[in-house]
Amino acid sequence: MTGSEPREVYSAADTQEAHFIKAALEDAGIAARVVGDYLQNAVGDLSAVAIAPCVWVQSEDFDEARKIIADLQAGATPANEWKCAECGEPNEPSFEICWNCQAVHDGE
Ligand SMILES: [Zn+2]
Repeated sequence: MTGSEPREVYSAADTQEAHFIKAALEDAGIAARVVGDYLQNAVGDLSAVAIAPCVWVQSEDFDEARKIIADLQAGATPANEWKCAECGEPNEPSFEICWNCQAVHDGE
């Protein structure tokens, strides 16, 4: 292990997702690149079969990158919902007022 070999950390469903993951990793200070979306650059040649793009990072960043991606995917499901004191409806954590009755959330 040299500690600097690129490794595939994520296989994306499409180019958009791959670039989303790449941007999230770069936000976290991890150098990442998307491999497999070069087909977009093959102007005029759409005969190539679409290959699922992959996100690659340096191997020393691999574990952290996996964690960040896992956190991203966990973030897709709501956590820490709060329940409205007025009507009892669950609300997204980012909401400051109840979506149902507009009661102000006085929690935290
Ligand atoms: Zn409410």
